[in-house]
Amino acid sequence: RLISAAPVSQQEEALERALRPKQLDEYVGQEKIRGQLEIFIQAAKQRKEPLDHVLLFGPPGLGKTTLAQIIAREMGVNIRHTSGPVLERAGDLAALLTNLEPHDVLFIDEIHRLSPVVEEILYPALEDYQIDIMIGEGPGARSVKIDLPPFTLVGATTRAGMLTNPLRDRFGIVARLEFYTAEELQRIVMRSASLLEMSLTQDGALEIAKRSRGTPRIANRLLRRVRDFADVKAGGDANREVADAALTMLDVDSRGLDVMDRKLLQTVIEKFMGGPVGVDNLAAAIGEERDTIEDVLEPYLIQQGYLQRTPRGRMATANAYQHFGLIQPRSGNN
Ligand code: ADP
Repeated sequence: RLISAAPVSQQEEALERALRPKQLDEYVGQEKIRGQLEIFIQAAKQRKEPLDHVLLFGPPGLGKTTLAQIIAREMGVNIRHTSGPVLERAGDLAALLTNLEPHDVLFIDEIHRLSPVVEEILYPALEDYQIDIMIGEGPGARSVKIDLPPFTLVGATTRAGMLTNPLRDRFGIVARLEFYTAEELQRIVMRSASLLEMSLTQDGALEIAKRSRGTPRIANRLLRRVRDFADVKAGGDANREVADAALTMLDVDSRGLDVMDRKLLQTVIEKFMGGPVGVDNLAAAIGEERDTIEDVLEPYLIQQGYLQRTPRGRMATANAYQHFGLIQPRSGNN
C-alpha cells in the first residue's frame, strides 16, 4: 500500500535514511519554518544556549523526523530518538534525559501518546532542566531532584489538538508542516533520482510529484516503483509517459488519489448519500482504523477540497462527486 503512517519495511527505512536531506538548505519547501529555524539556531549558537523546544506537527511523511535531525546537525549536537508509546514508565524518560550531553536534541515522535506520568516528569525537565523522581516504594519512598544538562526537546505529532495544553505551552517554537506543492515535490524527486543514479526527466518527476498526495515519503516511494517499471519496460529511462504508465498500474489516479482515498470518498457518496457521516461509522464501513482516517487519509482529502469536516460528520464535496463523474444531488441534507 502506498499511503501509510510510517515506512513500510526495513528496506524502505534504510532508503529513507539515504535520501534524507542533512542540512537546512537541502530541505525543500516549508519556507516559513525553515526561515525561523535558521535565525533561532544561529541566535542560540551565538549565545551558546540550547535551542528552544520545538513542536512539529503535520501528517506522516512530511519531514518531521528529517527536520529534527537537521536541527541537531545544524546545532552541532547529538540527537536521541524515541516515541510517546515507547516511554512507558517515568524511569524510561529519566534514563534518557540524564544521559544527554549539554544542548543535545531529544526527539519524541508521537508525543501526543505520552502517558500522563511520563508527561508529568517532562514539565520540570523542559522548564528548569530538572526532574523529580521517586526512589523506593511504600513508606520509605522519597523524591529526589536531579539536575539535567540543558537540552532541546523536538516533539512531533500528527495532530496538535491531541496535546494537553500544559505540554503545548512549554514549546517556544511551534510549527505546522504543510503539504508540499507539485514543484517542491518535483525538486525532491529529482534529487532522489540523482542519489539513486536513475535517469529521470523533469516532466517524469513532475508527473510523480503531482500524484504523491503532497507528501515526500510517498513521492520517494512512487519514484522507486517508477524506477522498477522503467528498468523492465523502458530500458531504464523514465519520462512522463513511463511515470504515468507505472502510476496507473499502481492504481494511483490522475489526481493522485489512491485506492484507499477513492474507497473513502465513494463510501461517503454511495453508502452515506454524501454525508454527513461520523468518523467511527466511516471507519467501520471501509474497514480502517479511525486514527488512520484522521491522521493519514483525511488531511489530504480535506486540503484538496474533496471532503469537508462538519460538526455532524464528514461530507463529500461537489469536487468529490465530479471526480467520479457523478452529479451531486441538489437537496440532500446540506
Ligand atoms: P515524518 O517524520 O514527518 O513522518 P520524515 O522526516 O520521515 O517524515 O520524511 C520522510 C521522507 O521524506 C524522508 O526520508 C525524506 O527523504 C523525505 N523528505 C521529507 N521532507 C523533505 C524535504 N523537505 N526535502 C526533501 N526530502 C524530504
